Amino acid sequence: MEERFAFLAEWYDPSAALLRRYQLLFYPKDGSVEMFDVKNQRTFLRRTKYDELHPEDLFVGNRVNVFSRQLNLIDYGDQYTANKLGSKKERTLAMIKPDAVTKVGKIIQMIYEVGLIVTKAKMTKLTGKQAADFYMEHQSKSFFNNLVQFVSSGPVIVMELMGDEAVSMWRKVLGPTDSSVARKDAPESLRAQFGTDGTKNAGHGSDSLASAARELEFFFPSTAGHGPSNTAKYSDCTCCIIKPHAISEALTGRILNSITEAGFDISALQMFSLDRANAEEFLEVYKGVVTEYTSMVAELCSGPCMALEIHHIDAPREFRAFCGPADPEIAKHLRPNTLRALYGKNKVQNAVHCTDLPEDGLLEVSGFTHSSLSLLIQ
Ligand code: GDP
Ligand code: MG
Repeated sequence: MEERFAFLAEWYDPSAALLRRYQLLFYPKDGSVEMFDVKNQRTFLRRTKYDELHPEDLFVGNRVNVFSRQLNLIDYGDQYTANKLGSKKERTLAMIKPDAVTKVGKIIQMIYEVGLIVTKAKMTKLTGKQAADFYMEHQSKSFFNNLVQFVSSGPVIVMELMGDEAVSMWRKVLGPTDSSVARKDAPESLRAQFGTDGTKNAGHGSDSLASAARELEFFFPSTAGHGPSNTAKYSDCTCCIIKPHAISEALTGRILNSITEAGFDISALQMFSLDRANAEEFLEVYKGVVTEYTSMVAELCSGPCMALEIHHIDAPREFRAFCGPADPEIAKHLRPNTLRALYGKNKVQNAVHCTDLPEDGLLEVSGFTHSSLSLLIQ
């Protein structure tokens, strides 16, 4: 029998305002796909060749694009697929230490280049006690106090990474613990490029699946609480959201890099998923004003997005200018170096949302951290 991979996939249908479920089949032999509507028990897409779907993108937790539909792969459809495509998938905890936080864009690019994806992310500042708890295993070491002092000296960015052998792959990207050894033995590694010495070494990675589970639970608890809180400052700032399409097109690192290279300071960062009600609430000011409102809502709740607090003098105005005109086509002509010109595709999938009115900047940042959305992202 011909090899075939099966998935359960979800797609948000904006016109019906419904979450639809499909069985997605992929035939590696000729790269064709087939879809069945689960609820109505009928064929939704007859077997069709589709070159843009790559086998390496097929795993639970990822989002794929099939004929312009963003499908969330929520489960394996059969044991064969789970064994064949799911067995090597791991999650690990990555931390960008205080000395490398400004390099977040480049670091996320490195993560995607080795085939890992970022599934959770948050900028936080650890207290001495939190740092000591996190590094409990090193309590008796001579470098313990220095280490705790260092990782609690400024903001860090913690991330959940996912992909094939994520634990060892991320440690390979990091390179040797001591930055000077890294520069000698692995000059391309993250610690070689961004670290300073034995303590200040730019990044952390879990050393086993068991530590990954403990460390992920520490920062992104699955049950009670939200873990260490984010670093939003709410002053001299504006809000930027990297939209779901840009996240799934692996543009996050490049967008963050463009933002920091343009001189903006990222003072808070958090990745999260909005449901439809939250997306509608967030975009309410555009309702009845912009014709794309419905599609904007559908895009914003179609997958994880990343909220940023941008800190800068006159932040709302300066940053909005840097985002460029809402329509990427216009942006490409008039302001080719803006975020929308560089990373946008159309008026809805225009890479970033940014605050329109200066007085909304603070409101939106706090909206994402305080109001009804707080549960989602704290
Ligand atoms: P890692 O898993 O590669 O981060 O290394 P370890 O788990 O052994 O150590 C945790 C962290 O402690 C390292 O990332 C360094 O920041 C720091 N560290 C480890 N070993 C030394 C050392 O010998 N001297 C100093 N000063 N710091 C160290
Ligand atoms: Mg370690």
